[in-house]
Amino acid sequence: MKLLEGKTAIVTGAARGIGFEIAAAFAAQGAAVAIGDVSAEEAQAAAGEIASRTGARTVGLALDVSKEADCDRAIEETVAAFGKVDILVNNAGIARDNLVLRMKEADFDAVLDVNLKGAFLMAKAASRLMLKARAGRIINISSVVGQSGQAGQANYSASKAGLIGLTKSLAREFAPRQVLVNAVAPGFIRTRMTEGLKDEAKAKISEMIPLGRMGEPGEVAKAALFLAGEDSAYITGQVLAVNGGLYM
Ligand code: NAP
Repeated sequence: MKLLEGKTAIVTGAARGIGFEIAAAFAAQGAAVAIGDVSAEEAQAAAGEIASRTGARTVGLALDVSKEADCDRAIEETVAAFGKVDILVNNAGIARDNLVLRMKEADFDAVLDVNLKGAFLMAKAASRLMLKARAGRIINISSVVGQSGQAGQANYSASKAGLIGLTKSLAREFAPRQVLVNAVAPGFIRTRMTEGLKDEAKAKISEMIPLGRMGEPGEVAKAALFLAGEDSAYITGQVLAVNGGLYM
């Protein structure tokens, strides 16, 4: 029996990177998966690729998580496709790095809107169904820098620290209805978000990581899979670090 047989999931920002690997891992374990991304074409392409790889039911949705109407519609479309929503993964995220003195208000707002408000809007839309069903899982993709802070990432770190507060508050609010809410806090993972780093910077980062290397998106997906499945039925309000020991 596959871990997520009969379950349905929606993963935001899943056209590439960590979100794509989470969607693929869920599909490989039997879930029907909705892939939401700002680009409808890329979401549909990712959905097609995952379906052909795994044989699972998938659907690609146009979704900008910073817009409430998009979030409500994405949940409606997932229900239309699969009948219900058991698992929500708030993965969509952006970075607009700069030192505070040079950071524009618009760059602060954009990062908070997608990374933090987006997770709130999606959780609000999905929880209507989950609370009624008295079951569900919400997994928020935070970051090691939400725990440690990071120079040049005041906006991003604040959004990811905020996600941890959101996770704990939702966990308390939803626990009476058996809706479990947890966060995953990845360290430095090899995706488009980090590929812009210079080789020298990557080498320096790897030196700081006790396990001596950056992580792979699939390694984050395994943590999300654990939090989505029955093996984590007594875990809520927690932050699972997937960071090679970078922050303990
Ligand atoms: P990525 O490769 O840049 O993928 C992010 C995805 O989210 C992209 O497909 C992007 O679409 C989509 N997206 C952006 N804005 C969106 C919006 N408003 N609504 C819906 N989708 C949106 O990044 P990643 O590295 O896989 O990161 C995934 C998550 O992990 C993020 O929350 C990130 O903060 C977190 N994280 C990453 C790392 C790391 O080292 N990579 C570490 C810690 C945490 P477009 O490409 O079309 O814009």
